[in-house]
Amino acid sequence: MAEKFSLTELFGSKVFNDSTMKERLPKKVYAELKKTIENGEDLNPEIADVVANAMKDWAIENGATHYTHWFQPMTGITAEKHDSFINPTKDGGILMEFSGKELIKGEPDASSFPNGGIRATFEARGYTAWDCTSPAFLREDAAGVTLCIPTAFCSYTGEALDKKTPLLRSMEAISKEATRVLHLFGHDEVKNVSTSVGPEQEYFLVDKDKYLKREDLIFTGRTLFGAMPPKGQELDDHYFGSIKERIASFMKELNIELWKLGVTAKTQHNEVAPAQHELAPIYATANIAVDHNQLVMETMKKVAKRHDLECLLHEKPFAGVNGSGKHNNWSMVTNTGKNLLEPGKTPHENAQFLLILSAIIKAVDVHSDLLRLSAANPGNDHRLGANEAPPAIISIFLGEQLEDIVNQIIATGSATTSKQGGKLDIGVHTLPNLQKDATDRNRTSPFAFTGNKFEFRMVASSMSVAGANTVLNTIVADVLSEIADELEKATDFNAAVQELIKKTLTDHQRVIFNGNGYSDEWVVEAEKRGLPNIKSMVEAVPALTTDKAIKVFGKHNVLSKVELESREEIHYEAYAKAINIEARTMIEMVNKKYIPAIIKFTSNLAASINAVKAAVPTADVSVQADLLTKASELLVAAKTAVVKLEEITDKAAAIESPEEQAKAYRNTVFSAMAELRAPIDALELIVDKEVWPVPTYGDLLFEV
Ligand code: ADP
Ligand code: MG
Repeated sequence: MAEKFSLTELFGSKVFNDSTMKERLPKKVYAELKKTIENGEDLNPEIADVVANAMKDWAIENGATHYTHWFQPMTGITAEKHDSFINPTKDGGILMEFSGKELIKGEPDASSFPNGGIRATFEARGYTAWDCTSPAFLREDAAGVTLCIPTAFCSYTGEALDKKTPLLRSMEAISKEATRVLHLFGHDEVKNVSTSVGPEQEYFLVDKDKYLKREDLIFTGRTLFGAMPPKGQELDDHYFGSIKERIASFMKELNIELWKLGVTAKTQHNEVAPAQHELAPIYATANIAVDHNQLVMETMKKVAKRHDLECLLHEKPFAGVNGSGKHNNWSMVTNTGKNLLEPGKTPHENAQFLLILSAIIKAVDVHSDLLRLSAANPGNDHRLGANEAPPAIISIFLGEQLEDIVNQIIATGSATTSKQGGKLDIGVHTLPNLQKDATDRNRTSPFAFTGNKFEFRMVASSMSVAGANTVLNTIVADVLSEIADELEKATDFNAAVQELIKKTLTDHQRVIFNGNGYSDEWVVEAEKRGLPNIKSMVEAVPALTTDKAIKVFGKHNVLSKVELESREEIHYEAYAKAINIEARTMIEMVNKKYIPAIIKFTSNLAASINAVKAAVPTADVSVQADLLTKASELLVAAKTAVVKLEEITDKAAAIESPEEQAKAYRNTVFSAMAELRAPIDALELIVDKEVWPVPTYGDLLFEV
């Protein structure tokens, strides 16, 4: 029986949110904290003590014994070190204490996180600092209740060692530059601009017992072997299909856990591939959305286990079956609540909309290499450019109506609105209301305008969305700052705006593409247009440290040259490590599981041939003999390939330069892995299921 609960009471019940703060903090302290949060000012240490105390009382009342600074190191997942509230007293008792200092700043001994050479171990100190714009929350599970304080993580010398710090800096940059532009349009009421983000999360669920029989899933998150089952996703019967009871009960518990944490889990449905699903929250301010997406991923994994399921967040858990991504919906909103990507109702607003739109188009064109990198991880290499995900070429989809307007502006400097048929000198007539494009066509675009937001669809399913949003915020801030510079000098503002829109759209129209992004013709056409087609993570990494990147990140104080260089190294290392683990897992599975199983199979066959021959010397054993020959040949191929893979992997592992090493894994180990997979997958199709040592794709995908 379903237990009853009040959703309004449940929602945010584990969050030290605005209403809890209001209720528990003295009026003056609350007002000052609010000011800090809203204006991004530094927190007054005196009020920090009061806030810490209230937070502690609230946490303890809710069963907490520990607190942790919850941070997001360069691993892309979250990290935490727990401290209890306990403080010994002289008489041998304890006091539960938590000071403002402990709230604001932490010092995890965190020398083992990737830092790309920023931190030599002799100065290994790293600091975590409270991001008071993202509320503290309670994590409740079998391990107890812990107060989690969202923090940024920096080195002793102030360099960002995490994904959160650059994101917060980029939010500041875009706020500053967008506000400048809005002030030029006379919107003096606007004090700041934030970015809204809604990440749609795709994932797979598989049966836990079957998962535990596959080292590849355990160690790498994806299957490294596996032949296609007779049935795949060709019937499209899973997409939006009715949700099985076991999955539905997982989703129900997931929602409840997320709602308690204040995550607005909203939409859930089955995805294209069998066993694949999606969850979308309602959008939130970028840093909160990033925190929440981390909580979504973490909670999915945790709740899955309670249902004897395993949640796979990998981009490509199964070859030949659709992979998972994360659609990053992004828009800009003023503190007065106006979405800047919403075409306005007055000509004046339309000019502003078209200017901001052209700024985004320019930013995406000029810095497509950075966007591409922000979606790169080893898993996404299996998707981008394959026939299911956006191609590795960055282009923008605007929808028919808006593209038509853009084309008219480029051609004549003005446009005729399709609906009213009136002439639209920018800033003279109103734009038609732009309908959200409901057609399937735009599903092939990596960067699509969907009515009042852009949807960046390349992002990897297992990755933090911090990187993608840091890049988006920074590159758009940069173009807005150029625009503000130019318009501040203009004598005739309206004429200058009009000219700027026309020029920007003309210069960057090459990045706009409305057609089928999955077609081969597009690859050819994109090359003609000079758009980069960066096919792998290793090829994407250099984008981080080009002069262009150093300039744009530096100008807006998002990432310094040193921080960029460290990130370059971290990316190369992460790639090499991931492929190394995959290669070693393959070697182990082949040597310890597949080869012994195939030997058993061939021995049984040989014994059967001999037995049949002995019983009936004239019997035809050609079927068994053929099978034995075939299996033995494939066995030899597998053995040869595994020996080769081991040699090549050892060689790559010995390379010192992170860049050279990553390239070696990409160029040699990766293909040797494919050569080993082929004979094993071929064997799977002929070997007796009884002796096959691991669950098959059919078992994993259709028996959840
Ligand atoms: P679709 O299904 O077409 O992708 P939805 O309306 O379902 O679009 O929204 C998908 C995601 O986009 C949700 O997370 C939603 O909250 C988010 N979203 C909607 N509007 C905005 C906006 N203005 N800015 C950022 N994200 C948004
Ligand atoms: Mg979407």
